[in-house]
Amino acid sequence: MGKALFNVPDICWTVSGHEGHSRAFIKIQDGCDCFCSYCIVPYARPVKRSKPLKDVLSEIQTLVQKGFAEIVLTGINIGNYVCPETDTDLAGLCEQIAALPGCFRIRFSSIELQTVTEGIIRQMALRPDRFCNYFHLPLQAGCDKILKDMNRHYDTAAYRARVADLRQQVPQIGIFADVIAGYPTETEADFEATVSFIREVKLAGLHVFSYSPRPGTPAAALKQLPPEVIKRRSDALRALDKELRAAFAASLAGTEQEVFVEEHKQGRPHGITSNFQPTVLETNQPCRGLIRVRITGAEGAVCLAKPI
Ligand code: SF4
Repeated sequence: MGKALFNVPDICWTVSGHEGHSRAFIKIQDGCDCFCSYCIVPYARPVKRSKPLKDVLSEIQTLVQKGFAEIVLTGINIGNYVCPETDTDLAGLCEQIAALPGCFRIRFSSIELQTVTEGIIRQMALRPDRFCNYFHLPLQAGCDKILKDMNRHYDTAAYRARVADLRQQVPQIGIFADVIAGYPTETEADFEATVSFIREVKLAGLHVFSYSPRPGTPAAALKQLPPEVIKRRSDALRALDKELRAAFAASLAGTEQEVFVEEHKQGRPHGITSNFQPTVLETNQPCRGLIRVRITGAEGAVCLAKPI
């Protein structure tokens, strides 16, 4: 998963967020036993645990009552969510969240491809007001040989098929991905395959990680690539990320979106759409929370929009 790629996050079930800023995070799951070859998390947190469903629902309700308009569900591997009391999975949790009253939306933090079920997608498609049309689907490499070396549990064909399926069922979905540059066994041709694959599936943006070994993991025992190679590949992926974000922003011109306004800069409200597009509102009126807008255009990776 995203930030847990290499580091072990704090174990903490508490809700975080700041009243008045309208956004909050709830950790619903902890632990992972996937043993990706580069990741230390399964050695530190091999046991998968989930927060009871009733606690998740009650925390959401408390946050909504306090005025939070966007709530992010987080965890090491949220697709592995299973309520310890009722065996309800993430799709079942979504169904119950969909039934809650109030005006708020839910965003998933990164979710592993193989844990994205039809049930989750169905809830997103049924309730676009409640579930953000956004996925952070870690890719790590767009080359089957490297995915296998990394002990990832999918290949490029599965990733391609899932992305196509998501786009068909969830309109204007923003799909972002983690990608690792410079895995020890990555040849120049493998790296080029990754770049081509990312271009082919037209992701909305990348989170680029420069590979660095984590002692105790299988990948750390391999012969490492020279730092300059890792840097060159990371830079190339970051340039590609810029390109992808600009293309995604431009693709939204003319569409209606709901922007979650988080702050004001130079008198203008700034926020993100449901599909995670940074957007500036063309108004001097102060506003907060969820605002309906029409996208008028884009400047680089940022959309401009008028409230409607
Ligand atoms: S899925 Fe892989 S990268 Fe993510 S936490 Fe588990 S072992 Fe680490």
